[in-house]
Amino acid sequence: MKSVSEPESSPSGRTAKPNGVSNSSSDEIPRREFLRRGIGATTAVAALGGFLPATASAAEPRPTGKMIGMQIGAVSLVDEGVGQVLDLLHERAAVDTIFLTTFTYGRGLGGRQIPGQPFPDHGKQESDEKTFHGGNYATPHAEFYQNTVLKQTRAPDHGDLDIVAAVLPEARKRAMKLFCSIEDVFRSDIPGVKEVAEVDLQGRRTNTLCLFHPDVRTFWTGLSADLCKSYDIDGILFFNERNGPLLNALGASHAQSIASSRVTCFCEHHQKAARVVGINFERAREGYTKLDGFVQAALKDQRPSDGYFVEFWRLLVEYPEIIAWDRLFDEGKHQVLAEVNTTVKSIRANLQVGFHIEHVNSFNPIFRATRRYDELVKKADFLKVVVYNNCGGERYANFIKNVGSTVFRDVPKDELLRFNNHLLNYGNEAGLDGLATTGLSPDYVARETKRALDGVQGKCRILPGIDIGIPTGKNSRKSTPDDTYAATAAALKAGAQGIILSRKYSEMRLANLDAAGRAAREFNK
Ligand SMILES: [Zn+2]
Repeated sequence: MKSVSEPESSPSGRTAKPNGVSNSSSDEIPRREFLRRGIGATTAVAALGGFLPATASAAEPRPTGKMIGMQIGAVSLVDEGVGQVLDLLHERAAVDTIFLTTFTYGRGLGGRQIPGQPFPDHGKQESDEKTFHGGNYATPHAEFYQNTVLKQTRAPDHGDLDIVAAVLPEARKRAMKLFCSIEDVFRSDIPGVKEVAEVDLQGRRTNTLCLFHPDVRTFWTGLSADLCKSYDIDGILFFNERNGPLLNALGASHAQSIASSRVTCFCEHHQKAARVVGINFERAREGYTKLDGFVQAALKDQRPSDGYFVEFWRLLVEYPEIIAWDRLFDEGKHQVLAEVNTTVKSIRANLQVGFHIEHVNSFNPIFRATRRYDELVKKADFLKVVVYNNCGGERYANFIKNVGSTVFRDVPKDELLRFNNHLLNYGNEAGLDGLATTGLSPDYVARETKRALDGVQGKCRILPGIDIGIPTGKNSRKSTPDDTYAATAAALKAGAQGIILSRKYSEMRLANLDAAGRAAREFNK
């Protein structure tokens, strides 16, 4: 009998990767646990009463409508009650899949509203600035962390609460799927972090983890295995928004800072990986030191005699190691994605793996060139492609200002924006002065969704991330219910297999959830 907990196959009919083998012994633990909690298939069917359409039963495939996902952190479920929140999400926003923040030390996915921003119209109206810590909100089982120094990551925020154990049975009662979101955001005071931290251009230890360090590798595969073996979840959504040294040197994202002397990673593990593929470490370091000099001179308005762009391009020509070292960073990041995917598939072939594709991919053509959708499909069942259009205006404007202050400093910024719009196939978006207050349009959502769908050629599902209430500056665009409706409808009409409401429920207003639900239900009709 088909259990309600089984993920549906992808539209391409592909349910498992070639490396996906079913492991019956590892399967036993969660199934037993699942049954012990009284949420076996029969119980679940009974519990579904009134929730599924009268014609559907748990033994039949789920309705073929688009997946409507919600990103949510533990604190919201603690504050407002697990059952109450799941009911609310289903009733108001038509949510059928929970992306539960299970591992992060970051506030983008975890915690209440970030400090300084207004609270939404639900949940505790009190900042958790002093109490938010982060970590693993499930129970880390020691056997999965034997080969890493990163052993103590249990989030202390909610005492002994295991958020996955608390939400899973309630999600099943409502025929909802549950994915664990895990994010590569750490803090420096966690035991082991200093030992596996990256080393920057000037030889300083940083607070970020080296993706070539063996202990970091075994941490991510250990965490993924722990979650997939210890709980009967539907899969993992992995977040890693970290950029390589080239983009960080130029500040070529929406991040405000340009930190060309702090770029990473130049540690012994990166040097070893470089030797294997024949990249000269000393030349790379020399190239990045010159790039740092170029960036710092540009910020002081010291124009090279041949102009900023020519000087930058000359650096790349004379030091091809600059690009090679940037690619090496990406290689480490993508090897981690591949290892997580292989690990998860070896536990239960029908577990699904998804990756979050960061915002910079949609407005930086240099970054875009490093992300091949036809390569990503080999590592993932679905991609959460960020198409946050409201905060996108502010972020895109920041990107233009950043690249316009170094590489493209000779180009007036409003002309640079128009030029970049052409490179990216953006339509009629606002000019630089109005971009932050106007935001990007639903047409941007549709175009980026379509581009991703064209890229993956049906081999992987595309679930665009829809911006609801992502914090922006005081005078920048705030998402109205009409914005949410338009963005949701645009993504679904463009052909996406579903959407993921982002970034976290604790920053969303209820009227926006209603609008997302209305767009989803109208589409699914
Ligand atoms: Zn390293």
